[in-house]
Amino acid sequence: MSAVTEQTIETYGIDNWGAGYFGVNRKGNLIVRASENDNLSADVKAIIDDLKKRGINPPILLRFPQLLVGQIRKLQTAFRKSIKEFEYDGNHMCVFPMKVNQNRAVIEEYLREGTRYNFGLEAGSKAELYAGLAMEQSEDSLLVLNGFKDKDFIELAFTGAQAGKNVVIVIEKLSELDHTLKIAEELSAEKPDAKLPMVGVRVKLYSKGSGKWEKSGGEAAKFGLTTTEILEVIRRLQEAGRTDMLKLLHFHIGSQLTDIKRIKNAMKEAARTYAKIVKMQIPIQYLDVGGGMAVDYDGSRTSYESSANYNAQEFANDVIYVIKMVCDDENVPHPTIIQESGRYLSAYHAILVTNIQDEIETVVEDINAPITDDVDDPQVVKELFDLRETINVKNHREYYHDALEHREELFTMFNLGLISLEDKGKGEVLFWDVCEKADEYAQQKKYVSEEFDELRRLLSTKYLANFSVFRSIPDNWALEQLFPIVPIHRLNKKPTEYATLCDITCDSDGIVEKFVDLHDVKPVLELHKLEAGEPYYLAMLLVGAYQEVMGNNHNLFGVPHEAHIHIGEDGHIIKKVIQGATLGDSLAIVRYEATQLHDQFRKIVQKRIKNGELSEKDGHQLIEFYENQIGAYTYLSPNGS
Ligand SMILES: *Cc1c(COP(=O)(O)O)cnc(C)c1O
Repeated sequence: MSAVTEQTIETYGIDNWGAGYFGVNRKGNLIVRASENDNLSADVKAIIDDLKKRGINPPILLRFPQLLVGQIRKLQTAFRKSIKEFEYDGNHMCVFPMKVNQNRAVIEEYLREGTRYNFGLEAGSKAELYAGLAMEQSEDSLLVLNGFKDKDFIELAFTGAQAGKNVVIVIEKLSELDHTLKIAEELSAEKPDAKLPMVGVRVKLYSKGSGKWEKSGGEAAKFGLTTTEILEVIRRLQEAGRTDMLKLLHFHIGSQLTDIKRIKNAMKEAARTYAKIVKMQIPIQYLDVGGGMAVDYDGSRTSYESSANYNAQEFANDVIYVIKMVCDDENVPHPTIIQESGRYLSAYHAILVTNIQDEIETVVEDINAPITDDVDDPQVVKELFDLRETINVKNHREYYHDALEHREELFTMFNLGLISLEDKGKGEVLFWDVCEKADEYAQQKKYVSEEFDELRRLLSTKYLANFSVFRSIPDNWALEQLFPIVPIHRLNKKPTEYATLCDITCDSDGIVEKFVDLHDVKPVLELHKLEAGEPYYLAMLLVGAYQEVMGNNHNLFGVPHEAHIHIGEDGHIIKKVIQGATLGDSLAIVRYEATQLHDQFRKIVQKRIKNGELSEKDGHQLIEFYENQIGAYTYLSPNGS
């Protein structure tokens, strides 16, 4: 591999956050490996070129089911190892929290692999449960139901149990228990042998997580029962003679838990609660430790919010060790551990590929001749000229501040009518010249102060990327969550531009101006210069968790095209292509019907034909064109087509 390629791999941090799944080939293209550090790989640029031949243009969501499988194996292996090492007596099973990615392809692939280890599902709403009920699961796997539940939800749960599933109704509110007991009573009276769902309780822990989802834990959390409420659940179960239904204790202290210390504390508290309940003669057997295993999006291995200061093995070791220690101390059997990790399993498998449509100019540049000084220039322009000519590495900070002041003065004088439009234009160009030089000098220093970060952002090239932040990486907009962004080609050439990204929505929040960096957050991303007539593609990675279903229809940009890719001996195989949303699809969401729109448009045109303002032929052409566009992709077509 060339030195330049090695350098770009470092620039984008591919080896830091890639978990062994991503790399660069000799052509300088981004590759995806079939599993961690596998020899089998697919060239992302080649996939996009193939899809283009089929008329599928970016933005395209690429799904690599093998990466989902890779993550399942990694997690399962880590727990199996810990269980062996610490001589833990129980098992470990996962239930995939469907809210992380309900997409059928994801759930089916997860179950295909997960069934081998008795991995099941977790549903948090009636709709998720409905889909979950129709999925084939292994005999011993669980279907855990969290979230608030009405009577219908609970009845669906009973339906699932009678269909043979190991359904667990996790009680979030006491009223849910009452519904459950009532239905159980009625059913048992009618069919004494009917299989009933199990009951779980979600405990509100004192321990909190860390990071953006810290609120999910602690005393003030939205979910979970307090100690007295749990005791009340047990009392009501005893009263109904149904303590044997209580099989699971659940807690979940938040997503993207960045700090392993916090996880250990929560684990201790939950294990202790479990042990105490067992000692009350309750045959509880599952300890559900929730989700929250973090994805190291920036590759820094720290407790920073887009990272994690632990890996799967450390996580597994801590869970197993702490639970064993507490249970041994309390002299109770080791529970089967249920884990609800979603983000960790699904983040890696999806990549969004977009094209840069254009560049947006921000810096004011001299369009014609280079600017020279002139005796007639107003004083403020002279000062700016002087700054530009004499700025150097020593004075750049001071001169930059002076330039900011002079610019203010320039605008004030213009508003007072004291200088001409030409003078103002000249002053602006000089100001930006000073900024560019100040930035150059600032970057030569080891430590670049934050004011220059801001300047760098102002000076950066703005690339117009053909996608919607709100649709495809909503957490970047809502939570400032970072996602790695990398060109899928030209990685054997040094990126020479500093850029930020603008999406194609008409929203000034539709931008990306924070990028992953090993030590910090980058205000700009190193990218290549656009070449006339040549497409430039970027990949947004690790977008397989939460982004798809949280993405919204802002500006009516719909779901992108989707392709499912298998990585084999000969590179990629495109298994499936799913067309993205058309104008008609997006409009239907806001209750427009195509037929109605077509009727109305036709009427408008026919009125003009009737008035003699349009010929019959031209009018019909307009109608035909309009009606055809209903099937168009909501995103921009590639330049030059
Ligand atoms: C969201 C959620 C999860 C998934 O959390 P991840 O951080 O994606 O692992 C698990 N359990 C419950 C109860 C949840 O609400």
